Amino acid sequence: MTQTAEPRAGTGPAPTTYPRVNHWIGGGLVAGTSGRSGPVFDPATGRQTRSVDFASVEEVDRAVRAAADAFPAWRATSIGKRAEIMFRIRNLADAHRKDIAAHLTAEHGKVPSDALGEVARGLENIEFACGIPQLLKGGFTEQASTGIDVYSIRQPLGVVAGITPFNFPAMVPMWMFANAIACGNTFILKPSEKDPSASNYLAELLKEAGVPDGVFNVVHGDKVAVDRILEHPDIAAVSFVGSTAVARYIYETGTRNGKRVQALGGAKNHMIVLPDADIGMAADAAVSAAYGSAGERCMAISVVVAVGDVADPLVEAISARLPKVKVGPGSDPEAEMGPLITREHRDRVASFIASGQAAGADLVVDGRQHVLYQDGQGFFLGVSLLDHVTPDMECYRNEIFGPVLEIVRVPTYPDAVAIINDNPYGNGTSIFTRDGGVARQFQFEVNAGMVGINVPIPVPVAYYSFGGWKSSLFGDTHMYGPEGINFYTRGKVVTSRWPDPATSKVDLGFPRTR
Ligand code: NAD
Repeated sequence: MTQTAEPRAGTGPAPTTYPRVNHWIGGGLVAGTSGRSGPVFDPATGRQTRSVDFASVEEVDRAVRAAADAFPAWRATSIGKRAEIMFRIRNLADAHRKDIAAHLTAEHGKVPSDALGEVARGLENIEFACGIPQLLKGGFTEQASTGIDVYSIRQPLGVVAGITPFNFPAMVPMWMFANAIACGNTFILKPSEKDPSASNYLAELLKEAGVPDGVFNVVHGDKVAVDRILEHPDIAAVSFVGSTAVARYIYETGTRNGKRVQALGGAKNHMIVLPDADIGMAADAAVSAAYGSAGERCMAISVVVAVGDVADPLVEAISARLPKVKVGPGSDPEAEMGPLITREHRDRVASFIASGQAAGADLVVDGRQHVLYQDGQGFFLGVSLLDHVTPDMECYRNEIFGPVLEIVRVPTYPDAVAIINDNPYGNGTSIFTRDGGVARQFQFEVNAGMVGINVPIPVPVAYYSFGGWKSSLFGDTHMYGPEGINFYTRGKVVTSRWPDPATSKVDLGFPRTR
């Protein structure tokens, strides 16, 4: 492995040049030639640690050529051999969990326990793809008509691309490439420019596992690279995960250019707490799901909808837990919550705390009081709790994507469901109750793609599929799992008869089965 995570930057003067993060094309690192690059920071120190190459149109084209050249042989590789390679990827990623996680901590800022959790959930997708011989089995009907058999097969699309967000630099690429390449496609990854190194490290692992050159490529960059991916005639499909505005753009542009597109967007996830819920369990869940990964998860709980008289004791129980949340850098073994991704993002999140308070919400805990925010080192912000938030407030209407939990108080369960169903997002949601009948009613009527019952972050296991509704997903198929296999393949149905001159005759009627 040539690219391992470097130690966190020290406190000396900033260097004038930084190690470069290059593209990975055709089985090796390729230095960028566009003359454009972006800074990569250690969010825990706030200091730049690397520069990442930004691809030009020509560089994306080069990656597509490498992927297109690799496709015929990869597609023709037996399913057994592809499965064997997936098992090897699985073993290598498993053996290097800590190395992958170190890249995440170094560039995203998430603490090691959280980073290892991300790797573990990503690995599940590689494990799922190891079952590709079973997953690609088609159907067969003997004697569909006299002497005629019919069977279905699923074939890869060709070159497919994945465009991924900053908040899961290893897991979201694994959501995509595992199924894509197991199905026989070749893949181009355009990771977030904010934390690009994990992608190159994964590329090295894939090569070591025996993935042929050109089957997996990484182009780094910004909108220039994304737009070329969306326009390139030799890219058959695009998977995207990121914010809603970009997801909508990706979906509209990609489909207009004839591509198959799945584009997962932002979220505002609500957790209903009913009066019969166990308050301690609901408070534990709300704190874990709101502040884990500094709230930078698309499945983070950002709104607790407190029903009836549960609100006061619940807010008290949540508040009591907040001073114990240990905020700090990933190098601190006790830290539970790291910094935010950039200074700009941290300041945007902080602005919603101010705007919520100005709009009349009750600021129960203010993350701006945290010493790491106050001393300005790194992109830290403490945990915040806003009570008495209403749906008309700016802080409610936006995806904050930071460690800010909002409490909305409503009198009844139908009011709570109405709030969720009126929200433009529909990614994940959950309900805390002891009443099975209400829980069942909730799963029946709530407009969201992923539902938790006494589970705050209901990210489906890899053998189901992941996807939201409404502005949280554009396209028809959810990500990974069985829907991922469908997305990365297209169906073909063969109707077959072996020659039998004795029964052959001219018949101009429409073929019948009986
Ligand atoms: P983002 O939309 O800013 O970026 C995602 C990707 O799109 C990156 O690779 C980026 O380089 C590219 N990009 C950004 N702006 C672009 C533009 N104008 N044109 C073309 N490409 C562009 O998202 P982010 O800030 O990296 O990630 C956070 C967002 O992702 C949040 O909204 C979060 O909810 C969402 N997210 C959703 C899911 C999900 O499964 N629904 C999962 C993770 C993150």
